[in-house]
Amino acid sequence: MSELHTFLFEGLPVRGVVVRLTDAWVEILKRRAASSTGAYPEPVQNLLGEMVAAGALMQSNIKFNGALILQIFGDGPLKLSVVEVKSDLSLRATATVRGEVAADAVLPEMINAQGLGRCAITLDPHNPMPGQQPYQGVVPLSDADEQPLTRLSEVLQNYMRLSEQLETTLVLAANDQVAAGLLIQRLPLEGKGNLAGQGAHSVEELNEHYNRIAVLASSLKREELLTLDVETILHRLFWEEQLQRFAPLTGESAPRFACTCSRERVSRMIQKLGEPEAKDIIAEMGAISVDCEFCGAQYRFDAIDAAQIFKPLDEQPPSSEAVQ
Ligand SMILES: [Zn+2]
Repeated sequence: MSELHTFLFEGLPVRGVVVRLTDAWVEILKRRAASSTGAYPEPVQNLLGEMVAAGALMQSNIKFNGALILQIFGDGPLKLSVVEVKSDLSLRATATVRGEVAADAVLPEMINAQGLGRCAITLDPHNPMPGQQPYQGVVPLSDADEQPLTRLSEVLQNYMRLSEQLETTLVLAANDQVAAGLLIQRLPLEGKGNLAGQGAHSVEELNEHYNRIAVLASSLKREELLTLDVETILHRLFWEEQLQRFAPLTGESAPRFACTCSRERVSRMIQKLGEPEAKDIIAEMGAISVDCEFCGAQYRFDAIDAAQIFKPLDEQPPSSEAVQ
């Protein structure tokens, strides 16, 4: 079963999160395999799994009231990969592949073949204030010397250093059964020179503590992350540290697969398309068919359904969902 654990290093401004997604991740892969596009090539599957684990880690870390959306716009055969994690840790993911992905393809080949790939992190608020736009940060998939990065964890570490100014260590891994990750982050000190809450450590001492913990975290192997349970991982890495553990999120409260698509949402899309356009498609194809890329749900609107959509508002039956 999927689970997420958070902890603090006692007396130090350093926190950690471990996530292991099993049923949630397998559900995403199962739905993809059953869709018309078929299963992902293995390197795409593993990258998307790392993105899903990273999305869950980042959302649980910032506790944003809305959706955290992690996207990679690639310039190789993997054109787009998207992970969306809501504040309740329900999540969904999809990827668009065009062309061949070699069985041993590495990250730059898939998404940064010409150095034009980008990673975007969007925070889309649940209840936006009037005029409030989603926040978006974009980072390249190369380092400061324009060398392509070979791991998603490096891309996201850069993002957090640049956007949140927080030193972060990430280890991510995924296969066809598990998507897992470990995040260690240095917390901002409260108030300048106020080290009272940090066990009266000097800045130099705090740097040393963080560096030691980061080295321990980075020593975690991909294979260990995929095969060991959370207790074993934490014990192996941090058995000499004092950890303050919080109640883990498991079962119903664990990160889980959920899709937010609905027939009402697709209706609104068709409404935006406009009546003449919708009628043209129906005349040509017999119906408007929309498949949800995230969950595989199929929505079909024939001429009668379309007539219902474009009826004047006062003739429509009341909808359970508010029309935006
Ligand atoms: Zn869906």
